[in-house]
Amino acid sequence: MIRLGVTGTDTGVGKTLVSTVLLRLLRSRGLRVSAMKPVESGVKTHDPSSDAVRLHAAAGGDDAMEDVRPLLLAEPLAPWVATARAGSEVDLGVLDAAFARLCDGRDAVLVEGAGGLLVPITRDVAFDGLFVQWELDVVVVAGNRRGAINHTLLTVRAAHDAGLRVRGVVLNALDAEPPGIAEATNLEALAELLAPVPVLSFPWLRKPDDEAYVLDIARERGLESLLRDRTPPI
Ligand SMILES: [Mg+2]
Repeated sequence: MIRLGVTGTDTGVGKTLVSTVLLRLLRSRGLRVSAMKPVESGVKTHDPSSDAVRLHAAAGGDDAMEDVRPLLLAEPLAPWVATARAGSEVDLGVLDAAFARLCDGRDAVLVEGAGGLLVPITRDVAFDGLFVQWELDVVVVAGNRRGAINHTLLTVRAAHDAGLRVRGVVLNALDAEPPGIAEATNLEALAELLAPVPVLSFPWLRKPDDEAYVLDIARERGLESLLRDRTPPI
C-alpha cells in the first residue's frame, strides 16, 4: 500500500493542489485511493474550495466526509490552539478510527496536514507524530519564493528527526508571474543541498480543471516518482 503524508513549508503553499494531482495520478493507474484532511479550520462544512471537499473529489468521492475530515474547527488556527480556546482538545482516537476506515481495501492513502509539519494537534502531538504513527512517507510542498531554501531545509530536517522518510520535495510556483532571481535559483540550490532527496518543480497551472493537461504536466515534472510502492530509507 502507498501511504503518503503531504506537508508544506507553510500554509498556503499548494499542499492541496499537489495532493489532488497526486491522487489523480494514482487513480489514473487504476488504484483504489482515499484522501484525508484530519483537521481543517476556518471553512464552512460544504465549502467547495475547502481542502477536504477538493481532496474528497480528487480521490473519487466515495468516502464519507466524516472520515475524510473528522474534525472541522471554526477558527483558522493550529488545532491545539483552536481547541484550547474552545475549552476542549482533539480526540486523536477519532482521527485514528477514521484513518483506519479510509485505509480499508485501498491501494493508496494520502493525508494532507494543516500548515507545516510541527503544527500542534494536541499539546503533545504534531503532524510529524501523526505521520509516524500512521506510517506515512512525507511529501514536502514548498512555495517557490524567497525564503524557500531555509523553510524547506527546516521541514526536511524535522521530518528526518522524527524518523520519517521524505519521498521528495515539490517546489510549487505560487503565481503566473515570470520567476524572479530567487524563484529561478531555488530549485538547483535545494536539489544540491537535499540530495539524495529529490526536488521537483511544479509550474503554475493555466488550466487547473483540465484533467488531461494537469496529468501531462505532473508526469512531465516527474511526480510519479513520488508514488512508488516502497522507497529505500533515506
Ligand atoms: Mg491545503
